[in-house]
Amino acid sequence: MYADIIIDIAHEKLDQVFQYSIPSELEGVLEVGMEVVVPFGKSNKETSGYVVGFSEDADYDPKKIKEVLGRAERSMAIESRLVALAAWIKEYYGGTMIQALRTVLPVKRKERVQKKRRVRLLLSEEEAKKQLDICLHKNQRARARLLAGLLDQPEQDYDLITHKLNVALPVIRALEERGILTVVSEDLLRNPVRYKQAERQEVQFTREQQAAVESFWQDYSGGVRGTYLVHGVTGSGKTEVYMEMIGRVVKTGRQAIVLIPEIALTYQTVLRFYGRFGDRVSILNSRLSAGERCDQIERIRRGEVDVMIGPRSALFAPFPDLGLIVVDEEHEPAYKSEKVPRYHARETAISRAGMEGASVVLGSATPSLEAFYQCRNGRYKLLELKNRAASQSLPDVYTVDMREELKHGNRSILSDRLKDMITDRLQKKEQVMLFLNRRGYAGFVSCRSCGYVVKCPHCDVSLSAHKNGRMICHYCGYEQPSVKQCPECGSEYIGGFKAGTQQIEDLVKKIFPGSRVLRMDLDTTRSKDGHEKILSAFANEEADILIGTQMIVKGHDFPNVTLVGVLAADLSLYSNDYQSAERTFQLLSQASGRAGRGRKKGEVVIQTYSPEHYSIQTAAKQDYQGFYEEEMKYRRLMGYPPAAQLLAVWLTGSDEEHLKKAALYLKEFTVRINKGGRLSVIGPSAPYVSKISDQYRQILYIKSAEYRFLIEAKNLMEQYIEMNTGFDSLRIQFDFNPINTT
Ligand code: ADP
Ligand code: ZN
Ligand code: ZN
Repeated sequence: MYADIIIDIAHEKLDQVFQYSIPSELEGVLEVGMEVVVPFGKSNKETSGYVVGFSEDADYDPKKIKEVLGRAERSMAIESRLVALAAWIKEYYGGTMIQALRTVLPVKRKERVQKKRRVRLLLSEEEAKKQLDICLHKNQRARARLLAGLLDQPEQDYDLITHKLNVALPVIRALEERGILTVVSEDLLRNPVRYKQAERQEVQFTREQQAAVESFWQDYSGGVRGTYLVHGVTGSGKTEVYMEMIGRVVKTGRQAIVLIPEIALTYQTVLRFYGRFGDRVSILNSRLSAGERCDQIERIRRGEVDVMIGPRSALFAPFPDLGLIVVDEEHEPAYKSEKVPRYHARETAISRAGMEGASVVLGSATPSLEAFYQCRNGRYKLLELKNRAASQSLPDVYTVDMREELKHGNRSILSDRLKDMITDRLQKKEQVMLFLNRRGYAGFVSCRSCGYVVKCPHCDVSLSAHKNGRMICHYCGYEQPSVKQCPECGSEYIGGFKAGTQQIEDLVKKIFPGSRVLRMDLDTTRSKDGHEKILSAFANEEADILIGTQMIVKGHDFPNVTLVGVLAADLSLYSNDYQSAERTFQLLSQASGRAGRGRKKGEVVIQTYSPEHYSIQTAAKQDYQGFYEEEMKYRRLMGYPPAAQLLAVWLTGSDEEHLKKAALYLKEFTVRINKGGRLSVIGPSAPYVSKISDQYRQILYIKSAEYRFLIEAKNLMEQYIEMNTGFDSLRIQFDFNPINTT
């Protein structure tokens, strides 16, 4: 047996894996992630490294392979736990060990840590006054200014002194030599949390909140670790619950990670954590510079941080003694990495927690089917918050049948009811949000008269219209010519939905002249902090109506919003993947949750062509359980997750014919290895976006009852791909339980 070892855990050197033989006394002892000592280089210097894998065959002359000397003294350091996590990620999601290591290990700093210098007075006040007198007497004005300044405040920032007091370096040196002052230098580790004066907001917990915290704490303090799902309606006080749980864990000397999707990670949220945990909170997000990120890692290493907040990647914060990982909005698709390794932060958090003896708390108003399924199985513990904390009531929700509007001759995007309600709010000087639900929209075709949607006869997902006049299923590749007339009712109002946020803005301005309108979509949020700027302008009531895509349903509380309009709720309903109903339910619930967050009661209007669809009906009633039951029926019937497990294999290449042939070969291979019928193979077919920058794409799906069968299949496919030169020019990626397959 041989061990694959990486020598230095610096990002630049990760590409080098060295093979060492394992002496008999270490056989069966070494594990992935363990730190070992090996001879390295020409001089065979004793160097430490980490085991990242094992192999049975030598990559070159076995006589030349050196032997592992032994285990390192200080084993199970934080790095080795992260290496072990990387090994888990590689096995569970595919890709190489190096890709996995690059994901979990912090980038090492290239620039030096910035230093902050301070000038400190060493004399007593009396002595200093005496010195000041001497300087004044000798007419040494600069020295006098410096002394007077330090008498005022005995320790001051170096740069401030040189600037404010206009004192030059030689003057400071002269006083330093005489023992009057000293210049101290410390590392300046920037803390990106800019608001220093956050105040802690004391709340009296509701009974539900109290019960959730105690249930968690009873386990935790009794040494029981587990995974919990806080299912709480928007505004039920989940964040307060997380903070209390974190506070208790931190008190025991351990640390916590809080994952929040980037889009929901507003200053409002960070401030609340800051108010509670002060300087011992840090944040990692994509807006930080590389240097600032390194500073945060360094602060963690020095034990200056107890709570790290951030999106997906904050999960790998190198805390020495992690006690709790919170995953807020656990249903968010952003938790799935779109790059190899395509890991899901929820599952990876649970895996890391298992390795560290930590607990995981998931939270959502609309839990993912996966998470709720695990609660039903008893693997996660369910903690419910059914009421809003500050005793605001939940909004009233109305659905408007857009087919009826068409019958009455209203062909506009806005229903008459919604128009009337907007007029009413504008008169009352209350605010309105209009939400265009475009997530995952992939050109489905529907009838505006009867709501009929053209679907694949084999997969029960909608077909996508393509410019060449054909309609395609992006799961199995089924094709048919596009339809000009509704097969159900014969109407000619059948086609794709074309309006975007820009058109809606124009329309709203025309219908409600004089209203102040803000628009939030990819175009208007491109600048730095663009997202934040629009939201705070709306929060400051600088506009009456905010129009936007799914971006507007997250984050800020707008107490003056009393009406939320959902335009075309169906757009996400018929996106061509198996999660479209779930996404729709989540988006509608979340959009509704924006209404009535203040004292005034809120109302929600959902416009749809399919008011009878269960995801719209249950969202309108805010009935999660009802939705879950219906949706699970569909998942079970079709064998989609979480009822079964799904593996997508992405193939990309510049030669379309070659790519298609290779995809077929891979399919045939999976059919060959399908012993006992554990796998079912679907496709290959072209995804909705079939070509990106001249690279063609194909996708192959494999379903199985159990995840481990898919891992086996992946491992065999990886070997097959490695051995066959026909795949050399292609990029092949594995995507377990895929979220985005357009
Ligand atoms: P969620 O995360 O579930 O949306 P939050 O924790 O953000 O809920 O709470 C929503 C609002 O209610 C916040 O303004 C919060 O300060 C307030 N809040 C939370 N818990 C209580 C409580 N027990 N009493 C009063 N107000 C509360
Ligand atoms: Zn029709
Ligand atoms: Zn199909």
